[in-house]
Amino acid sequence: MHTVTLLPEKKKIPVGKILCLGKNYAEHAKEFGGNVPQSPMIFLKPPTAIIENGGDIILPPLSKNVHHEVELTVLIGAAGKNIPKSDAMNYVAGYGIGLDMTMRDKQSEAKKEGSPWSIAKGFDTSAPLSPFVPKASVSDPYNLDIKLSVNGKQRQHSNTGKMIFKIDEIIAFLSLVFTLEEGDVIFTGTPEGVGQVIANDVIDAEIPGIGLLHHRVVAK
Ligand code: MG
Repeated sequence: MHTVTLLPEKKKIPVGKILCLGKNYAEHAKEFGGNVPQSPMIFLKPPTAIIENGGDIILPPLSKNVHHEVELTVLIGAAGKNIPKSDAMNYVAGYGIGLDMTMRDKQSEAKKEGSPWSIAKGFDTSAPLSPFVPKASVSDPYNLDIKLSVNGKQRQHSNTGKMIFKIDEIIAFLSLVFTLEEGDVIFTGTPEGVGQVIANDVIDAEIPGIGLLHHRVVAK
């Protein structure tokens, strides 16, 4: 059973669905020449993609171009369906930091073919995930510094205030389609600055006040 950790009690919660947003920061959407979506663009990762802070990110042999994407993550704490936006934040248990590791070459092929992104986004170790801090400890989830460096050199640095679809809108939208359950995790999208990592790179990512991640990239 794959679990996530909710601080401060370090409560272990079985992971449910991992729901991810694409193109939720305008500057990142521009990096790929894409327009900002009119409604949230959603894909999923399986629970087997999760690794804890410090675990190795294993480069899949299928890809020659694996990218880092640093994201604010949201842990759902209660079950709900058709949740109104006005009530949505009551379903949030906590916040964390995650990496949405992506086989960019396989994603590009899938986009061209109109095929799903499951392989490009859902491979083993593609979802490094910090423990979650309780919602009550975060006064404003839309004013958080978010940054990532590779081998000590900064690649991504933005603020969660720049996300296009806010957390309440995301939860309301998702719950029209999926019954949300305790243990579901939402990746809220990455800001600009995504790029390739190769074997032996070291990734450090942080949202101060929320969490940090430290991972080595390995080829096996
Ligand atoms: Mg992403």
